[in-house]
Amino acid sequence: FDGNYTEITVPDTEVNIGQIVDINHEIKPKLVELVNTDFFKYYKLNLWKPCPFWNGDEGFCKYKDCSVDFITDWSQVPDIWQPDQLGKLGDNTVHKDKGQDENELSSNDYCALDKDDDEDLVYVNLIDNPERFTGYGGQQSESIWTAVYDENCFQPNEGSQLGQVEDLCLEKQIFYRLVSGLHSSISTHLTNEYLNLKNGEYEPNLKQFMIKVGYFTERIQNLHLNYVLVLKSLIKLQEYNVIENLPLDDSLKAGLSGLISQGAQNINQTDDYLFNEKVLFQNDQNDDLKNEFRDKFRNVTRLMDCVHCERCKLWGKLQTTGYGTALKILFDLKNPNDSINLKRVELVALVNTFHRLSKSVESIENFEKLYKIQPPTQ
Ligand code: FAD
Repeated sequence: FDGNYTEITVPDTEVNIGQIVDINHEIKPKLVELVNTDFFKYYKLNLWKPCPFWNGDEGFCKYKDCSVDFITDWSQVPDIWQPDQLGKLGDNTVHKDKGQDENELSSNDYCALDKDDDEDLVYVNLIDNPERFTGYGGQQSESIWTAVYDENCFQPNEGSQLGQVEDLCLEKQIFYRLVSGLHSSISTHLTNEYLNLKNGEYEPNLKQFMIKVGYFTERIQNLHLNYVLVLKSLIKLQEYNVIENLPLDDSLKAGLSGLISQGAQNINQTDDYLFNEKVLFQNDQNDDLKNEFRDKFRNVTRLMDCVHCERCKLWGKLQTTGYGTALKILFDLKNPNDSINLKRVELVALVNTFHRLSKSVESIENFEKLYKIQPPTQ
């Protein structure tokens, strides 16, 4: 909070944090309304998939706060998620590219989604299972974060133009900043709702926030960069008429369109200064780099199955799916006739990921106020 964190220095992707805070004030009420609807507050996932990268169940989070209350009684799930309604929405795909078949989804996607026919899928009410302090930590969670950052090690193809550092650098930086921004957001939530052992309440813990996020300018910037990235992906969905063609009821569509239009109005005034996906993967040779970027991000989503705290896994899977969806929208919709495959879980994840970022931006504002009143003792 030294006033030096307002500009992000990656070329063409400067983010002015003050502008994002203002945009967030404008659009937050609509976003909160949306994530409280039946459509957006339920998430379907497998919480028990084996970790694809290493064996061993050591490090299970044994705290009660790590658990998730998932829905076992089908009648509790709202109508919109009942099987007959799902059928009406064309499997689980809410917006489908005419030329592509469902099986092709996996090769083009930035996330490894749980399979629709997976017998272990459960519904979770996100409002009843907030992202907050769980007590999960130590060697196990650290090794996951290390593995997530290790995915940032891109291998340039020898002899090809991809080997040029200047070609590679920006995309590498964006990849790193994306996962770092996700990490900052998770840390902000868990410190904003930190368990106070004296009274058993969940409340902001400024000292923990400063240790994990606040003392690191770059971590705050990366979180704000993610806010712009996800908002821009939503705006792109609107520009490509995806929203108006979604098979959702009219009020839901209107809510989503209203939110995006408001975001677009505010962001357009400052567009040149904000995250610009058009500068990424510009050259023809960058196809390989883009594939590598996508494969590596998909591995990040698969790493979420290695998280040993159910509550953390729920939000980790949701948010990595949300970012993967945003990347797919930003990088794959380029020409006016392009269309996109979008599954229900991806849409729900995208909107909720945006809400997570919005809540983080608001929490950081609040932490800043607390800091000004009384900085924590170190
Ligand atoms: P960690 O947060 O574990 O960080 C490890 C190292 O990464 C740090 O030492 C630092 O060098 C580096 N680092 C930290 N932040 C950043 C950043 N933003 N950018 C770049 N580098 C960074 N705990 C909960 O209580 N609730 C949750 O909901 C929750 N969700 C989680 C979800 C996932 C996917 C994972 C992997 C963990 C989750 N955890 C959660 C655990 C939490 O993230 C921390 O691992 C734990 O609180 C221990 O924190 P730490 O201070 O030791 O450092």
